[in-house]
Amino acid sequence: RAKEHGRNNYQLYTPEMNTKAVERLSLENSLRKAIEREEFVLHYQPKVNVEHGQISCMEALVRWQHPTLGVVPPARFIPLAEETGLIVPLGEWVLRTACRQNKEWQDIGYPPMQIAVNLSPRQLQPGKTVAMVEAALRDSRLDPHWLVLEITESVLMAGDEATVEIFRYLERLGVQIAIDDFGIGYSSLYYLKKFPVHTLKIDRSFIRDIASNPDDEAITSAVISMAHGLNLKVVAEGVETVDQLEVLRSLKCRYMQGYLFSRPMPADQVVPMFGRAAESCLNFCRWC
Ligand code: C2E
Ligand code: MG
Ligand code: MG
Ligand code: MG
Repeated sequence: RAKEHGRNNYQLYTPEMNTKAVERLSLENSLRKAIEREEFVLHYQPKVNVEHGQISCMEALVRWQHPTLGVVPPARFIPLAEETGLIVPLGEWVLRTACRQNKEWQDIGYPPMQIAVNLSPRQLQPGKTVAMVEAALRDSRLDPHWLVLEITESVLMAGDEATVEIFRYLERLGVQIAIDDFGIGYSSLYYLKKFPVHTLKIDRSFIRDIASNPDDEAITSAVISMAHGLNLKVVAEGVETVDQLEVLRSLKCRYMQGYLFSRPMPADQVVPMFGRAAESCLNFCRWC
C-alpha cells in the first residue's frame, strides 16, 4: 500500500505504530500456535434457577493458558481472534470441549443441565455453522436439548435471511438460543420475533445498581415482563450481592448468574456444586 501512495508517505508509519503492529503480530502468531497446541481451557459458571436453587445451565468461558503470560482472559484475545478469523477454529474447539464435558457429567450421573457456549458473529457461516454444531453433538453424543448457544444483539442486527435460517435449523434440532448482554446493543423487538430465541440474558450493566437505581429496576422489570409474555427465559447477569438478588426475586426473575453464586471455575472445581442445591436451596452460594 505504501507504494501506491508514493514515496513521500513514509511518515505515515510512526515508530509507535510499528511497535503496536509488531505486538499485534506476535500475539497473533502465539494465538495461532496456541490453537495448534491446545493451550486453552474452559471455565464454567452456573446459571441458577433461584426457585429451587438448582443449576439449570453451565456457561463455558474460554481462558488461554499462555506458557509465559499465565492465564489470559478472553477480553485480551477474543477480539483479535475475531479479527483474524482464528475464532473459527478456537470456537469449534470450545464447542466440542463443552459438549463433551457436559455429556461426561451426565454419564457420571450428575443432575443433567444445559451447557452454554458463546458464539461470535464470525462463526456464523451458512453451511458451516450447522455442520460444526451437528458434528460436535454427534461426536459427543450430547442430546441437542442440553446445548445453548449465546449470541449477542450484533448478530441479530447483522442477521440476514441466511443467518436466521441457521438458527431456525438449529432450533429444529433442539438447540436453544440465548441473547447475551441484552439491552446494550441496538437490538429491537423486531429481532425477537424474527429469530427463534429462547432466553434473554439481561446485561450486567442493568444489574449492577439495581438495588439503588430505580431506572435500572424499571428497565429490568420491563424486560422481564416482556420476556415472560413472549415465553422466554430471563437470566440476570453479574449478580454479586444479596440486595440485587432480592430485587430480582421480587421482579420474578427466575434465573441468575454471577459471583454471588460462583465465579467461572475449572471443571473439577464446579463439580462439588452439583446436586448440592437439591438438598437445600442455594446452599452453594456464599450468602446462605
Ligand atoms: P459473557 O459471555 O457476557 O460472559 C460473562 C462475563 O462476565 C464473563 O467474563 C464472566 O466471568 C463475567 N462475570 C460473571 N459473573 C460476574 C459478576 O458477578 N461480576 C462481574 N464483574 N463479572 C462477572 P469472561 O469470562 O472474562 O468473558 C468475557 C467475554 O468474553 C464473554 O462475555 C464473552 O463475550 C467472551 N467469551 C468468553 N468465552 C468465549 C468463547 O468461548 N467464545 C466467544 N466467542 N466469546 C467468549
Ligand atoms: Mg455469554
Ligand atoms: Mg453476557
Ligand atoms: Mg459480555
